[in-house]
Amino acid sequence: MMRYEELLERAFKQLPERKEEESRFTIPQARVFIEGKTTIFDNFEAVCERLNREKEHLMKFLLNELGTAGKIVGNRAIFQGNFTKEEIERQIRKYAEEYVLCWECGKPDTHFMKMERIWVLKCDACGAIRPLRRKIGIKKS
Ligand SMILES: [Zn+2]
Repeated sequence: MMRYEELLERAFKQLPERKEEESRFTIPQARVFIEGKTTIFDNFEAVCERLNREKEHLMKFLLNELGTAGKIVGNRAIFQGNFTKEEIERQIRKYAEEYVLCWECGKPDTHFMKMERIWVLKCDACGAIRPLRRKIGIKKS
């Protein structure tokens, strides 16, 4: 015989995902291809728009994390060296977790804000505030 607690636990496990979970933000897919010794991140601008962040900010992050040089050309980002789509997407996920997604509700409706002397990520959906570990490239706005 199962204990009541076990039954309860099983019942919870069988519940569908909460609605809140369903609306969780999915990291946009990167369209990436290699061209000679460079890597073209073709839908760079679209990804920035989806994340609601400035191109320069995501670019600075990517160059820093990938440890390479690169530039923004139109709606693409071009990196020196060859990187896979998976590598780029892993960095986008890291970026989103650090600079976009609310750690309380998981929504991307957030913005940077300066409190006292530190930069924080403030959620417009639930009001949660989290200090940013790094403030690379954040412009004062
Ligand atoms: Zn939130």
